[in-house]
Amino acid sequence: MPDTFDLIVIGAGSGGVRAARMAAAEGARVAIIESRFFGGTCVNVGCVPKKLFAYASEFPDLFRLAEDYGFSAPAAGRPDWQRLRDNKTREIERLNGIYRRMLEQAGVTIFEAHGRVLGGGRVSAGEQVLTAENILVATGGQPFVPDIPGKELALISDDLFYLPTLPESVAVVGGGYIATEFASILHGLGVAVQQIYRGGLFLRGFDEDIRTFVAAQMAENGVTLRFNCNVVSISEVDGQKQLMLDDGETVRVDEVFYATGRVPNVTDLFAEELLTGKDGLALAENGAVQIDAGYATSVPGLYALGDVTDRIQLTPVALAEGTWLAKTLFAADKPTGPLNYENIATAVFCHPNIGTVGLTETQALECYDKVRIYTSEFRPLRYSLSPAAPGSTRHRTLMKLVVDDASDRVVGLHMAGEEAGEIVQGFAVAINMGATKADFDRTLGIHPTSAEEFVTLRTLTRTCP
Ligand code: FAD
Ligand code: NDP
Repeated sequence: MPDTFDLIVIGAGSGGVRAARMAAAEGARVAIIESRFFGGTCVNVGCVPKKLFAYASEFPDLFRLAEDYGFSAPAAGRPDWQRLRDNKTREIERLNGIYRRMLEQAGVTIFEAHGRVLGGGRVSAGEQVLTAENILVATGGQPFVPDIPGKELALISDDLFYLPTLPESVAVVGGGYIATEFASILHGLGVAVQQIYRGGLFLRGFDEDIRTFVAAQMAENGVTLRFNCNVVSISEVDGQKQLMLDDGETVRVDEVFYATGRVPNVTDLFAEELLTGKDGLALAENGAVQIDAGYATSVPGLYALGDVTDRIQLTPVALAEGTWLAKTLFAADKPTGPLNYENIATAVFCHPNIGTVGLTETQALECYDKVRIYTSEFRPLRYSLSPAAPGSTRHRTLMKLVVDDASDRVVGLHMAGEEAGEIVQGFAVAINMGATKADFDRTLGIHPTSAEEFVTLRTLTRTCP
């Protein structure tokens, strides 16, 4: 096997696989080193299995809805967990094979080993030493659990995909994407869930109206939300986990699941000599590899992208970065400028789903003198046959447009409701093209859909400030 390459990639996740395949397609001699699973976090313990579980968690509600449409549906109980988990695992193993074959077919040389950057253009793949002019670190991240007594009793997101049995009760700690998604998923699967978050309202960084709306709906669905509260310690009592909270309360659950962020995966990744001296590799305090706009580290020929740089931790971002770097290094038609990180659409697959692109109302007010806000809250047609309790937020949808008053540009578009991710993805194109509220207004809707609300929002909700 040759040991000299044009590019060596460490980590066959979203960013690494993309960069390796694109570089090989440009004729570069490429090697990739992967120590755990092809496809990385997203395919194995992230986006894909998470979305499959999110689909599973919707069935009990659909069974109840089916009754209103005249069907006798199965009782909305808990799923056969082993069957769900193993069907998911079979699909993930199939995807692993596809990722591996894609690399092989692209002509990438694969090393299944731990990769380590040695310096001087050298990389070790297990016992073997390889050399290359360009080295890319795309090793992703790993869950972070704060250092509290009993932290070893906590589950992390990797564990949830392989649980031997589905617990009856779970405390979910954290208020970000993963905690909120899994609070909804576990609750949908019939687990009694308490979500514990240190701040006043979860999903910091998302639009405030959306956060408030989702919190109300999750609470009404039956998730116990404990905000302004943190865990002091975890202990094992009578086969259960006991959590001491900083508000003085005690919680007993079958399992405790921590989703308190992720840290860059840099364990034994760089030779000591690389990290020392004034020209050493720059890492942030949490290990994040420091890069410039072209993903170059402070060491010539060494690049990093994706979650290991701890910037925007999303698969499409890692993919775009991998493409950009491979093209820049090896293609004749190189990108003309750095990657554009504006208006990255994103979704949170909690119940209700969140879809969002552009600025929140708060962010818009920092950029523009005056913003116009248009909102619509409604019950989608699908639920019109189901009686709703007065004042209930269940199954309702919230849509929101944030418009810069001076230019009329729609600078933020937010939704909480069914299929929010699917709907917002399409609108993200319009937002990226600089669509104005007038452009939205002269677009005819598709009737009857929820999405049409975004182009029929005529009544101004408020102007800010
Ligand atoms: P990764 O995909 O993590 O790949 C890194 C690879 O490097 C891994 O395969 C690892 O085994 C390997 N590796 C690490 N160290 C070494 C070493 N020294 N030698 C060899 N190999 C090594 N993003 C979304 O956009 N949408 C979602 O719905 C979504 N859901 C998520 C749900 C969960 C539970 C989690 C944890 C993440 C989710 N993400 C989601 C985030 C997304 O998975 C990541 O942003 C993305 O996978 C980052 O890609 P990456 O290439 O940087 O790293
Ligand atoms: P996030 O950064 O989204 O959230 C971390 C949460 O943990 C925050 O609520 C944070 O609180 C809290 N937290 C951090 N440190 C502590 C601590 N010491 N004690 C108590 N609470 C703490 O991270 P996640 O782990 O949820 O997800 C990682 C990343 O993966 C996300 O940022 C996202 O980019 C990606 N992802 C994307 C998904 C998608 O696209 N649908 C789905 C899942 C993950 P505070 O807000 O107060 O800082």
